Amino acid sequence: MSNDTSKPSNPLLVCEGLPPFDQIQPEQVRPAMTQLLTELEQELQTLESAVEPTWTGLVEPLEKLGDRLSWSWGIVGHLMGVKNSPELREAYEAVQPQVVEFINRFSQSQPIYGAYKQLQQSQDWSQLDPAQKRIVESAIRDAELSGVGLEGEAKDRFNEIQLELANLATQFSNHVLDATKAFNILLTNPAEVAGLPPSLLSLSAQAARAVGEKAANPEHGPWLMTLDIPCFGPFMQHSQRPDLREKLYRAYISRASEGEFDNTEIIDRILKLRKEEAKLLGFETYAEASLASKMAPTVSAVETLQEQLRQASYDQAKAELETLKTFAKEQGAEDGGDLKHWDVSFWAERQREAKFDITDEQLRPYFPLPQVLEGLFSLVNRLFGVTVTAADGKAPVWHEDVRYFQVANEQGEAIAHFYLDPYSRPAEKRGGAWMDECLGRAKFRHGNDIQTRLPVAYLICNQTPPVDGKPSLMTFREVETLFHEFGHGLQHMLTQVDYAGAAGINNVEWDAVELPSQFMENWCYDRQTLMGMAKHYETGEPLPEDYYQKLLAARTYMSGSAMLRQLHFGMVDIELHHNYQPGGSEQVKQVRDRIAQTTTVLPPLPEDSFLCSFGHIFAGGYSAGYYSYKWAEVLSADAFSAFEEAGLDNDDAVRDTGRRFRDTVLALGGSQHPMEVFKSFRGREPSTEALLRHSGLTI
Ligand code: ZN
Repeated sequence: MSNDTSKPSNPLLVCEGLPPFDQIQPEQVRPAMTQLLTELEQELQTLESAVEPTWTGLVEPLEKLGDRLSWSWGIVGHLMGVKNSPELREAYEAVQPQVVEFINRFSQSQPIYGAYKQLQQSQDWSQLDPAQKRIVESAIRDAELSGVGLEGEAKDRFNEIQLELANLATQFSNHVLDATKAFNILLTNPAEVAGLPPSLLSLSAQAARAVGEKAANPEHGPWLMTLDIPCFGPFMQHSQRPDLREKLYRAYISRASEGEFDNTEIIDRILKLRKEEAKLLGFETYAEASLASKMAPTVSAVETLQEQLRQASYDQAKAELETLKTFAKEQGAEDGGDLKHWDVSFWAERQREAKFDITDEQLRPYFPLPQVLEGLFSLVNRLFGVTVTAADGKAPVWHEDVRYFQVANEQGEAIAHFYLDPYSRPAEKRGGAWMDECLGRAKFRHGNDIQTRLPVAYLICNQTPPVDGKPSLMTFREVETLFHEFGHGLQHMLTQVDYAGAAGINNVEWDAVELPSQFMENWCYDRQTLMGMAKHYETGEPLPEDYYQKLLAARTYMSGSAMLRQLHFGMVDIELHHNYQPGGSEQVKQVRDRIAQTTTVLPPLPEDSFLCSFGHIFAGGYSAGYYSYKWAEVLSADAFSAFEEAGLDNDDAVRDTGRRFRDTVLALGGSQHPMEVFKSFRGREPSTEALLRHSGLTI
């Protein structure tokens, strides 16, 4: 690796340093990955045949091996997101199955698992530091959760279940997709689209053209309304036709619950198999197996948290509905105070507009990107003592708009770098925003030499590019998103852990990983931070006070209802994966209806079959994990409240608290259990008080 005289001709095989984005071409992907996988497979075999159960004989070579794969494949994955093309996609799809196969083989290797176990029982074990031990323990746990520890019949059965579950998940999501597609209504009369925003009119006219209505246009229609979220959501909020809202709503809640796309039996089968799988692994329930790799210690800890939040939000949600009814009545709603399910979003949106409407367009001029970046960088300087400076030109980039920055510590030494790709490029770049690792912090041995590689992050946003000489003007949501992703980036970049397996976000439990990101979002509402950066890009005038007040009010608008809704999903998820008995007397739907009695203020309609389209838990990664949204919010709100307690106007206190956050949450990464990390920052276990207070809820 360190031998520079024989630099590979394929830039994707360099496997060290910054990615040479100026040299990489899609046609290099296939040969590079094929060659790399062949080499790695050989190395893995060599390692397996003579594995030495020590840190340097086992973990270090595995880290090196994994690092080469993630260097090359990481670049390809990154380019898929930011510089997509038919050629790249084709190359990616051609090699992806082999990469996945290798990763599975790598993570399910019996000899490697055996060596980890031996290391744990060897004399060397006591010589390892806590971070090293945790890396080994996590590796063993993950291997065991994927069935590597099983033998004989149990192993065969486990593999059978895995296969069937994978098929069922695919069927489940295909049914949801097909059922969603199977319904639409074509609106032809302008009276039927009354109230709809221009963006939805464009979208639905485009959908109509796609089904053959060649002349469809946003002004005159026809308009095709579907159950896809970008259509269904705004339609429920803005359509002035209760009859049409009802039609769409009823179709939406009964998706995939009957006929050829019925998911009812699939749900039963999934729950039954998950329970059996958990038992094979030595757990009583699937929820317990799921929590084995999470921060939440026990199912009852999750239940306690959810119940606490439920009690704090239920009455408020009820009151919010009453207020909304009164509002609707005053505005002359058809049924007066009797709001139906399909009326709630509509009237909630009208009430929001009446109370504190503030449009993106009003806010944008106050948030030009360069100013927002300056505000963000000065905040992280204030909190964490790090200095961010432009380093453009010091790294090859994949597009001319991409910026490169250096992060330096208080002594002025570089400790990390990051790329920022801020603007949307629909032709080649995926939507949304994300942070990803380019290089992780790690110490590598080169002979007798030990070198520390500094972390490098990718920060990707999708905001409006500068036009007509104006800078990129951001919506407030985009500002929050940038802060959020930067929070993930900080955990990646300010890590002090030198073991690749636990540096930055590596080995951080899934329900704790949103702590730094959501923590950073809080600062967008902090007066000093916000007012410091929100200035009109032409006049320099600060953000008007009433805009600020509206932003604060909007943050807690109908927060009781929003929280209760998330709790409803989370509690149904845990109940189904913990207490529910497949084949017992209570059906899945009855479980949901029972929980709805205390977690909804408008009981679900009899035909409401939302579980049949609840892909998060039946076809995604959130099974017995939906609670994580709230779990992480509790952590991030409570972390921010340490600054509130210290006094947000007290610069010294904010500085000290910030340094403590840097040295614990941001520095320790996955080297300690997240509860220990949290406690070393906060001095105690997390409390729900701050989240409730920030949400405008009090017990
Ligand atoms: Zn996030």
